[in-house]
Amino acid sequence: MKEKKVPMRMCVGCREMKPKGSLIRVVRSPEGQVSLDPVGKKPGRGAYVCRDVACLNRAIRQKQLERQLQAALSPETAEALRNTLTALQAEEAGPHE
Ligand SMILES: [Zn+2]
Repeated sequence: MKEKKVPMRMCVGCREMKPKGSLIRVVRSPEGQVSLDPVGKKPGRGAYVCRDVACLNRAIRQKQLERQLQAALSPETAEALRNTLTALQAEEAGPHE
């Protein structure tokens, strides 16, 4: 049996190690803009959270996201992150096949 090495990352919300693919990257751009990076290719400092708004909320509330990204998170940015993740989850749960 061949076992494929899956890169693991820690969710800053629940602090569990998970396969990178089941997490979503939050990135702080060189300009200081914090946004979600579903593809994981944006330049900048990144942090990972589960694809779960509850984890994102926890990461925001506990300031883990700010600490990881070394960026201040305004309420507007936090709200935008939540909205993007919610939309992403809805999209993934949608009738694709
Ligand atoms: Zn999590």
